[in-house]
Amino acid sequence: MDQQTSFMRSLCLGYIEEDLIVPFPEQSEDEKELLRGVIQSLEQTFKGRDDEYRKWDRAGDLPPEVVQQMKELGLFSLIIPEEFGGLGMNASSYSRSLQELAKYDGSVAITAGAHSSIGMRALILFGTPEQRAKYLPKLATGEMIAAFALTEPGAGSDAAAIKTKAVRDGNDWVINGNKLWITNGGIADFFTVFARTEGPEGHSTAFIVTRDMVGVTTGPHEDKMGLRASSTTTVMLDNVRVPHENVIGEVGKGFKVAMNVLNSGRTGLGGGCIGAMKHLIELTTKQCKEREQFGKPIAEFGLMKQKIGHMVVECYVTEALVSLVAGLIDKGYKDYAVEAAISKVFATECLWRSADEALQAAGGNGYMCEFPYERILRDCRINRIFEGTNDILRLFIALTAMNDVGKELSSLGKSLEGIFNDPIKGFGVISEYALRRVSQTTGVGKVRGNFSKLNPAIQPQAEIFEDGVRDLAAATDRILRKHGKSIIGKQFATKRLADIMIDLFALAATLSRVNSSINKNGPQAAYKELEILQVFAGQVRRRTKSNFNKIDNNDDELIKSLADHALENERYIWDTV
Ligand SMILES: Cc1cc2nc3c(=O)[nH]c(=O)nc-3n(C[C@H](O)[C@H](O)[C@H](O)COP(=O)(O)OP(=O)(O)OC[C@H]3O[C@@H](n4cnc5c(N)ncnc54)[C@H](O)[C@@H]3O)c2cc1C
Repeated sequence: MDQQTSFMRSLCLGYIEEDLIVPFPEQSEDEKELLRGVIQSLEQTFKGRDDEYRKWDRAGDLPPEVVQQMKELGLFSLIIPEEFGGLGMNASSYSRSLQELAKYDGSVAITAGAHSSIGMRALILFGTPEQRAKYLPKLATGEMIAAFALTEPGAGSDAAAIKTKAVRDGNDWVINGNKLWITNGGIADFFTVFARTEGPEGHSTAFIVTRDMVGVTTGPHEDKMGLRASSTTTVMLDNVRVPHENVIGEVGKGFKVAMNVLNSGRTGLGGGCIGAMKHLIELTTKQCKEREQFGKPIAEFGLMKQKIGHMVVECYVTEALVSLVAGLIDKGYKDYAVEAAISKVFATECLWRSADEALQAAGGNGYMCEFPYERILRDCRINRIFEGTNDILRLFIALTAMNDVGKELSSLGKSLEGIFNDPIKGFGVISEYALRRVSQTTGVGKVRGNFSKLNPAIQPQAEIFEDGVRDLAAATDRILRKHGKSIIGKQFATKRLADIMIDLFALAATLSRVNSSINKNGPQAAYKELEILQVFAGQVRRRTKSNFNKIDNNDDELIKSLADHALENERYIWDTV
């Protein structure tokens, strides 16, 4: 199969590329061995330090000796190739390591995660041999900690609006600008900085900036809702002279570098979410068994079991999803942006629900700072905001799909190139002609390909998926028919399509995981996993149908009207007294 094939982008065109997801990815024995060692040392170092985590959180400070411990454990070297002194982990092992770390403390996990997932990833992906040789050994030992500096006061979701400017001067670039909310800002020595470099090549460029360069300063530690011990600061660049050899990738292609970094790093964040969910399941099951009300442990009440059961389902499905995306990356597939975005949205929202339900099951204790629930809830809230807000990622997921449907039309050919990198802005070029053709080429009953390799034990759930694919094709068709080119402004409809896609990919991942488990261990041993699949497939069927029905039958205009009314008045007007 072509390494460029994307499961979800093919699915939106009606193809189920089964070979991409079956069998479920599995780590090699060497990787498992490496992971066992990492997991063990993390446990030895971080288990049972809950009082300290609470203290660091209250103080909003990660003590330097903890950062030193992290360096000694090799936590800054996870993805760095062995030749540069790193552990050389693939995406799956990296994600699994962050999972383990996130079980203990969110601030520690984000400090390591921001370094590898985004801080130095541009260097790994696009660095020249000289750049890699110069910086990777220091980044591996933690002598240099890395940060990713994209966001600015006026450029958050709209990353292309950055104002930080780099102007060429001889062999140097002179950079001026301010970056905002940069994770690891206060402890980093290595910054991947994005700046405008107007010119025929494009509008932005990625640079390696180091703390020792004249004109680099960082602001004070931000006082945050969660992840309070992790460093978040502004980064100021005042006439910073950066040699041309510090350009990462091509001049003018900074936006592409930034998007690749974010896509490639998402399995780290997904792994972190899984770790936190596993921790919450441990806390909640113990709490519900210990706490007695009405003469018995609250674990015996149906409503508590309902919470725990859903937490288990969401944890398993998230793990399937994140592992599948990591597996695709490790197999060398190049086009996983939509799948990675889906895994980020799904993982971060499942963790948020789990944290909320765990806190609810803990009752008043959940609200007390003495217990970890409220800290975990605060820590995980940011996941839905940074590395691309979930709203923006939903638009990206659905618009890429709709764009592809148009792209299939050969008559559009090259004119659609580049839109993939920026589907939100680029969608407008799809012509009415293309949209008419889309209506003819997609639609109910046109699905090409079914699952053929799945164990018969999960056939009913595979059929739910196949029905969903028909709904997806029909939904894309209906939405495009209804809104035509103006789909770009129809975010309610776009979100519905994204939600169908998110559910279907999560179901595909779960089918694949359960299938592998049944094939390996037999249906008896895998019967609990089968139960998870049954529950999740049922949820997907109901949600997909509901989203599908809402395409034509919804209250979008009413909701919009109410929002407009509130926006006009800037308040709620129906006080009773
Ligand atoms: C703790 C923390 C750590 C961070 N770490 C880093 C880091 O290391 N490096 C870095 O570069 N940045 C970092 N950020 C910044 C982060 O990536 C941004 O906050 C994020 O991209 C969102 O940008 P914004 O906050 O400006 O929100 P905005 O872009 O202003 O968005 C506000 C709301 O509007 C919505 N919205 C925006 N545009 C649209 C649209 N077109 N359609 C529909 N809805 C829309 C958004 O979804 C959001 O709900 C960090 C932020 C925090 C809080």
